[in-house]
Order: sequence, then C-alpha cells, then structure tokens
Amino acid sequence: MKINIIGGGPAGMYFAILMKKADASHEITIYERNGPDDTFGWGVVFSGKTLANLRAADEESHAEITRAFAAWDNVEVVRQQEKISIHGNSFSGIARLQLLKILQRRCEQLGVQLLFRTEVTDLHLLKANCDLLVAADGVNSTARKQYSDHFLPILDFRPNRYIWYGTNRLFHGLTLTFRENEAGVFAAHSYKFNQTTSTFIIECDQETWNRAGFATLGDDATRDYLEKVFAPDLEGQLLLSNNSKWINFLLVKNEHWFFENVVMIGDALHTAHFSIGSGTKLALEDAIALFESFGRSKGVAEALKDFENTRKPVIEDYQAAAFESMRWFENARDYMNLAPIELAHTLMTRSGRVSDEDLRRRDPAFMTRWEKQ
Ligand SMILES: Cc1cc2nc3c(=O)[nH]c(=O)nc-3n(C[C@H](O)[C@H](O)[C@H](O)COP(=O)(O)OP(=O)(O)OC[C@H]3O[C@@H](n4cnc5c(N)ncnc54)[C@H](O)[C@@H]3O)c2cc1C
Repeated sequence: MKINIIGGGPAGMYFAILMKKADASHEITIYERNGPDDTFGWGVVFSGKTLANLRAADEESHAEITRAFAAWDNVEVVRQQEKISIHGNSFSGIARLQLLKILQRRCEQLGVQLLFRTEVTDLHLLKANCDLLVAADGVNSTARKQYSDHFLPILDFRPNRYIWYGTNRLFHGLTLTFRENEAGVFAAHSYKFNQTTSTFIIECDQETWNRAGFATLGDDATRDYLEKVFAPDLEGQLLLSNNSKWINFLLVKNEHWFFENVVMIGDALHTAHFSIGSGTKLALEDAIALFESFGRSKGVAEALKDFENTRKPVIEDYQAAAFESMRWFENARDYMNLAPIELAHTLMTRSGRVSDEDLRRRDPAFMTRWEKQ
C-alpha cells in the first residue's frame, strides 16, 4: 500500500512505524514542515497504562522511551504556604524533542521516508497519489480546514490563557500551584521531565490576564512578571522560553473522521485539555487503533469505518473527563477560599475519573486527613 502522512509529530510517526513494521512492502512517506530538531514546548507526561500500550505495540521504541523517562507517583498541590502530597499515582515525563528523536530514528530504521522542511499545501495531489492519506497535522490541521465540508469540525476556543515555559527548578511530581496577586489567580502545572528541566505551564482567566496588562507586555516583561508571581516556587530559577506565547486552548471535535481515502488522527482530529496530560497519549493510541483497524479489515474503506466506530467512543469518554478538568481550571478563582486539603481533594476528583475509593486505595493517609477535616 502507498501511504502519505502529513505531519511528523507523535501520531504520524507512530502510525508509520506500526504499519511499516507489520509489512515492509508498504511505501510510506511523511511530510513535515519543520526540521528534525525543531519543536515547541518542553516535556510531555504519560500514565502507566499508556506505557503498557506502547510496549505491546512496539517494544523497540518503548524501551528507548522508558530509558529516557523521569517517573514519579505523587501529585503536589501548593496553595499559600502549604503543600499537600497525594501519592499512589503513576506518571512519567519525557522531553517532546527526545520523544520525536526516538520516533524519527525508528522510522529511519524501518525505511519510512521522512521529508523534513516540506510544507503540504496541495492536499488533492497528495490524496490522488496514494491509497491512504493520513492527516496527522496537529491542532491547526490544514487537512481539517481544506476538507471541512466532509469532516464537519466543531471548534471551541476556550476563554483561559496559558503559556508553556520550562525551568531548571525541578518539580518532583505533578505539581499544581496556585498564586494570587492584585490581578487575580494564576495556576501553574509543572513536572520534571529530565535530570535538569521541568515543564512549567501557567494558566489564568481572561480578566486576570487583562488586569495584569499582558496585552502590552513584551516576552521578557511577561516572563519577569510571572517569575515574580511564582517566586516562592521557582526558588531563584528563571522561566525558560522556547518562543513561548500566550494561547487559548482550542477544543477540537469532528463529526466525521474520514472521507474517501483520507483520515485524521491525533490533535487534528480531537484535543483534550492539557490538565489531564493526554494529548500525546491519545495521539499515539490513535495510531495504534488505526493500525489495528487495518489488521482486522479488508481494504482502506472498511478499515477507516472500523477506526471511527471503535475509537470514537473512547475519545468521547476522554474528552468528557478533560472537559470537566478544563472547567475546573477556568473557574479556579471560585475554589481559592477552600482549605488546602479540600482544594487538593476537589482537584484530584475534578475530572470525574478518580473517586474517593480510588484515592483511598492510592493514598489512605491523604484520605484520612481529608475526612478528619
Ligand atoms: C501547553 C500544552 C501542554 C501540553 N502538555 C502535554 C502533556 O503533558 N502530555 C501530553 O501528552 N500532551 C501534551 N500536550 C499536547 C501535545 O503536545 C499534543 O497533543 C500532541 O503533540 C499531538 O500529537 P500530534 O502528532 O497529533 O500533533 P503534533 O505533535 O502537533 O504534530 C503535528 C505535526 O504536523 C506538522 N504539520 C502541520 N501542518 C503541516 C503541513 N501543512 N505540512 C507539513 N507538516 C505539517 C507540524 O509541524 C507538526 O510537527 C500539550 C499541549 C500544549 C499546547
């Protein structure tokens, strides 16, 4: 089969790896607008269950990914002078660039053709010239725009602003920190992803953003401002920018997932708020699901139908949980009068996927303390 893939992110490369590994006669080309060492952002986080899925799908890349991991089991909630730890969770972090390099090497090893610095503009030509066109071209997908009459996307720009920094202050555990100043409430999502660096995402609502005057602050002044807000947490370390900009989260859904021989996967197809740390996981698991659909179907049309039928309910479930989590952060200011232990409890249960029973199993001491209070 001849397969063209737009986008050399986690979704596109992982799908290429699985297909090529299963049948070396597939001719697979990935078109990627960036160079092999360009990336945005810092680290990404996975749960233990995702790792089990990756091991079952491709042992080789799984081994490399886990070698590069920073793993932890605690969520830390920081409010005023207090830090509450909740143990018994399972997360690992990896630099996005490192993950991409591992997948690039695996693609090259298997004979997938990676065309870097190649922007796709004419989808019709690419579509006509293959058996399967996979649009793994991220949240601002060109394919989704060009074929919007077929995919019928539903796009929802959320009101909160966020900005993705790094820092050399190491946060051992998924740390959620809340700080207030005269402008409003700021939340930071941080975690260590290698021996020297942590991801540090800062989020605030639009009113706070306006009052802080970010509209007229340049990049350096914005960083200075936020370093002051989180001074007790950064312990003298700086915020590191990777061309970091304020953005609004875009919630993406699509009525139809494929048409003719074109299918979308990853962020092009759906997004889930970063507060449940699932974007890369879902992208990789989409690749596995689409690969498995080919395994149980005869031909492209049947496989794409199978992919949509089997994967859509799973994604809808995730998006529902992520939506609750996102809403919690959009309304964060309403929770700031809670005692820190109560705040930690609402945070742990915000998505509806973690019950009190789960928490009791994971960290009985935390639950005893919460119940006492
Ligand atoms: C602030 C923030 C924090 C996040 N934190 C996490 C986290 O902790 N854990 C997690 O799992 N996920 C996280 N994510 C989400 C994660 O980054 C994405 O969900 C994931 O990268 C999706 O993978 P993808 O392959 O679908 O798309 P992408 O990684 O976006 O890859 C798409 C690729 O397509 C290329 N491309 C696009 N258009 C074209 C074109 N026309 N021609 C050629 N190439 C093109 C792009 O250059 C890009 O390389 C976060 C996202 C944000 C914004």
